[in-house]
This record gives sequence, C-alpha cells and structure tokens, in this order.
Amino acid sequence: MPGSFKAEAIVLRSIRDGEADRILHLYSRERGRIGAVAKGVRRPKSRFGGRLEPLFRVALVLHEGRGELYTVTAAQTVHAHASLRERGPALARATEACEAVLRLFDSAEPNVPTYNLLCHELALLDASPEAAGRAQSLGFRLKLLLAAGFVPELGSCASCGEREHLGGFSAGAGGVVCAACEAGSFPLDAAAHEFLVAALARPLAEVPKAPERALGQADRAIAETLEHHAHVRLGRVAA
Ligand SMILES: [Zn+2]
Repeated sequence: MPGSFKAEAIVLRSIRDGEADRILHLYSRERGRIGAVAKGVRRPKSRFGGRLEPLFRVALVLHEGRGELYTVTAAQTVHAHASLRERGPALARATEACEAVLRLFDSAEPNVPTYNLLCHELALLDASPEAAGRAQSLGFRLKLLLAAGFVPELGSCASCGEREHLGGFSAGAGGVVCAACEAGSFPLDAAAHEFLVAALARPLAEVPKAPERALGQADRAIAETLEHHAHVRLGRVAA
C-alpha cells in the first residue's frame, strides 16, 4: 500500500484526543521517536482493543499522511508486559524508563540499541519484578547514556588520562577525574566507581548491588552527565 509502512514500537505515552482517538508517542525500531494517531481506539468495539496503551510492545502498520502524525491502520501485540501492570514498584520503574527515552530521544532517527535496551528493560521488569530496584534502574540509565553517545569516561582521568587516584566525577570534564584535576568535581567513592564500571559492562539482568551511598553518587554522576551533555534534566532515581 503506498504511504504505509510496518514498524515495531513501544508505546511511551498515550494522550486522549477528541471523542474517541488517542495520540501515541512511540519509540520505534525503524524510525526512532514518532507520533501517531489511533482513530476510534477509545470506542468499546475498537479493532485495536487495549493494545495501544503505554508499555505495550506492538507491531504496527502506519500510514503516512500529510501532517506530522502517522495514522495507525493495524496493531498486533508483541509483548503486553501484563504482569508489570499489576505490580506498583516494577510499573513505576518501567514508566520511568519510558519517560527517560521520551526525554532523551526526540528525533525520528533509528537507534536500534536504544530500542533493544528499552525492550529488554520492560521484559526484565515484567518477568522479575524483584529486579525493580534502584541499582537496576541506574544500570538502565547508564546504558541509555551509552546508546545516546554520552557515556562518561570511567577508565582513566577524563582530564589528564591518569589511571590512579580517581576519586572524583566531573560531568564537565566527561567522567572520573584524578586528585590533581578534581576542580569542579564531586567525590566519587571507589564503590560508586566500581558500580558504574560493572553496570556498564554487564547485561541489564546482572546489574550489581551496591551500598545506597554509592548508588546516590552514581545517580548524581548519571544525572549531571545528562544535564551537561544532553541538556536533559530527569528526576533522580528513587531509592
Ligand atoms: Zn587528572
């Protein structure tokens, strides 16, 4: 069909529009961030059923009209994340993950690592709600930074390259800094540094635990990196 294409996407946000429609904010594998209108979706007998709610992973057929929004012409569920919706903490973490993608990725450029990361995060929170802790959410955000191209330098001083005495973090410098370069940095304990390194290296499901103090510093390092390099301010990850 001319003007139509297939895309797989996560529904990030769904907003009521008019009497029966919804405007969807989608993160798609094929085209990055896109917006679409689902017509008649709020009618009881809508052919879309409940498939276009936030957190659904769906296979869509979209029609490209003249405006900025595509029109959804078909939708199939790839993953409903049904158990996620019944558990408060996992639901809150999943909503936070979608919000971070919404804020950080606003262009219609495909970024497959970001799409896969969000799919993995939602599937993990759906399958293992006990994983829904602060460390896991921080691991997700750190990997999101990597996918966005803003991952901080963690192996050596971001200012001078020194590999020892790395006791600070400076978003302006671009990562960890040594004692000689610590101006403008905040203290980063060894435990927080180790957490950042391990969370980045390991799969999402294996993000390590760490003391609250270390997680607090890791949170600050991630948040300040986002603010400094992406100009995006996200709420801190709840303990
Ligand atoms: Zn240095």
